[in-house]
Amino acid sequence: MALLQNLTFFTTVNHLRDLPPHSTLEIAFAGRSNAGKSSAINTLATRNRLAFFSKTPGRTQHINYFSFDETRYIVDLPGYGYARVPAAIKQHWQHLLSTYLSTREALAGLILIMDARHPLTPLDQQMLDWFIPTGKPVHILLTKADKLSKGEAVQTLAKLRAELNKSYPNCTAQLFSSLKRQGIEEAEATLSAWLGEQPKGKQQAEEIKTPG
Ligand code: GDP
Repeated sequence: MALLQNLTFFTTVNHLRDLPPHSTLEIAFAGRSNAGKSSAINTLATRNRLAFFSKTPGRTQHINYFSFDETRYIVDLPGYGYARVPAAIKQHWQHLLSTYLSTREALAGLILIMDARHPLTPLDQQMLDWFIPTGKPVHILLTKADKLSKGEAVQTLAKLRAELNKSYPNCTAQLFSSLKRQGIEEAEATLSAWLGEQPKGKQQAEEIKTPG
């Protein structure tokens, strides 16, 4: 069973004061708009339209919460990098994201979605610069990996990992494709660890070992 199988839409937040107070653990997904964030959440949740809640009018610049259980959430942060966004909206976005990332205690880790063809843009680096000082982990999904040849994909990942090693400690990366359902288990392993869940394989092995 997929780790995020039972994810359900919870709420939309437009002001930091409205962040759910009872949340004990959150994993946030962020990325440039159109990088493939909604598709990645839908793929991991095995629910085709789930993250498109975040794309309905009035929600795109907001923080959207999906329940994992009563106190743990997957958080869909507003996509960034729209070419033609009024300055006021940019400012709102910047304040919401930077404050959320740098101060949200319940936030356990950040999944950063990047188009494998354009990794680590200046805005992606901005996100890392806000979040890395917290000392919490970041895991990058290089999405749309199906758009690269196998060799190009491997090279892109190696280059990104070298760059992360140099400039962004505590940051891991993998290839991902929602279209080809590539990289799901690897992403789930990271999410399980952050959620404090046992990895699927281990859990099953222990269930077999435990008598009655
Ligand atoms: P978001 O704005 O980051 O939420 O991006 P979406 O998930 O809406 O995806 C943007 C576009 O990229 C859509 O046309 C998707 O169908 C496409 N897309 C998303 N993920 C993949 C993928 O893994 N492979 C390919 N080929 N296209 C993808």
